[in-house]
Amino acid sequence: MKQDLKKVCQAAPRCGGCNMLEVPYEEQLIKKQKMVEKLLKQFGKVNPIVGMDEPMYYRHKVHAVYAYDKKKGIYHGNYEEKTHRVIRVSHCLLEDQRADAIFNSIDDLARSFKIRAYDEDSGYGLLRHVLIRIGHYTGQILVVLVLSSPILPSKNNFVKALRKLHPEITSIVINVNDKNTSMVLGDKEQVIYGRGYIEDQICGYTFRISPKSFYQVNPVQTQLLYQKAIEYAALTGRETVVDAYCGTGTIGIAASKNADRVIGVELNKDAVRDAVVNAKTNGIKNIQFYQKDAGQFLVQIAQNGERVDVLFMDPPRNGSDETFLSCVGKLAPNRIVYVSCNPETLKRDLEFLKKFKYRMVEATPYDLFPFTGHVETVCLFSKLR
Ligand code: SAH
Repeated sequence: MKQDLKKVCQAAPRCGGCNMLEVPYEEQLIKKQKMVEKLLKQFGKVNPIVGMDEPMYYRHKVHAVYAYDKKKGIYHGNYEEKTHRVIRVSHCLLEDQRADAIFNSIDDLARSFKIRAYDEDSGYGLLRHVLIRIGHYTGQILVVLVLSSPILPSKNNFVKALRKLHPEITSIVINVNDKNTSMVLGDKEQVIYGRGYIEDQICGYTFRISPKSFYQVNPVQTQLLYQKAIEYAALTGRETVVDAYCGTGTIGIAASKNADRVIGVELNKDAVRDAVVNAKTNGIKNIQFYQKDAGQFLVQIAQNGERVDVLFMDPPRNGSDETFLSCVGKLAPNRIVYVSCNPETLKRDLEFLKKFKYRMVEATPYDLFPFTGHVETVCLFSKLR
């Protein structure tokens, strides 16, 4: 039975944030299960999808666009699907409610401090976006104000007023994005309160996460997903492990105690910096991180004659590339644990790996993104000898 969308969310259906809002949660899970099975069942067993007990308000990384309306002044929301029109969203069903409250307060403060919303067409105005990251286990909250110029008028008073309304905020950063781009964050950053990052705990380890580092948006499900990834790796303590597309080092660090050594590779330099700190904070000595394209890095370690026993790979939505996958063929790890946010590219990469005598043992989908069409899958391939 379809629910009345407007009753569930004022912004629906124009806001493209959750395109499965009208689908009951059990049905969403069935749809996602079918989607993964359709693509992967031909290669091996697909376990039942792991859903959430409480599927709402799960996003711990949230982002709002700021815009201006003649009648109501500055407001925040999301882009309407496939456009750059900003739909007002004052209460989002996917986002942690602490973030909602902060966005609403920033609307009010922007009005009283006479801060103008950035206008994409004219290039005028200051406030473009606000990004909020919340540590699920630590409760730490980072607010990133994305501005078109580095100068926030009455900065100290603004910070004071925001902290007074929300003493739960642990850090505030200005990010300067002065380009005409659809990217949210620019290059320059200035910490104006606190440490400039949050920490969170996952699988018993502490992770530092900077504004630009990747970190899964749904920490409750992520922990389950990582546990499965580590179970699939079946480490005995003797293995050399590569954690490719490692972000802040989460998977490699969580796997390190059962491995001989772990090598992490990641392109984003802030994430690598976080990863190095994370290894240190957790007292892990058998892990090293490299800032490089994952494919180029594998070519290099293959040339050096390195042995790799187990490979974790967790590429972005467009999957891996031929350089990387061909090199996996050469390095011939016994097991590959592929974490994917896009079952289509997972299937494509799996087909490529079959050339090198890999077969899929099993896959488990996880619902990391309730009310959206996305699904995460962790998949185990093993090498036929
Ligand atoms: N495993 C991490 C991050 C996964 S997201 C976690 O679970 O948190 C994918 C990561 O791949 C991002 O951090 C992104 O910066 C990185 N990435 C994208 N393209 C890359 C490339 N060509 N080489 C290495 N890393 C890349």
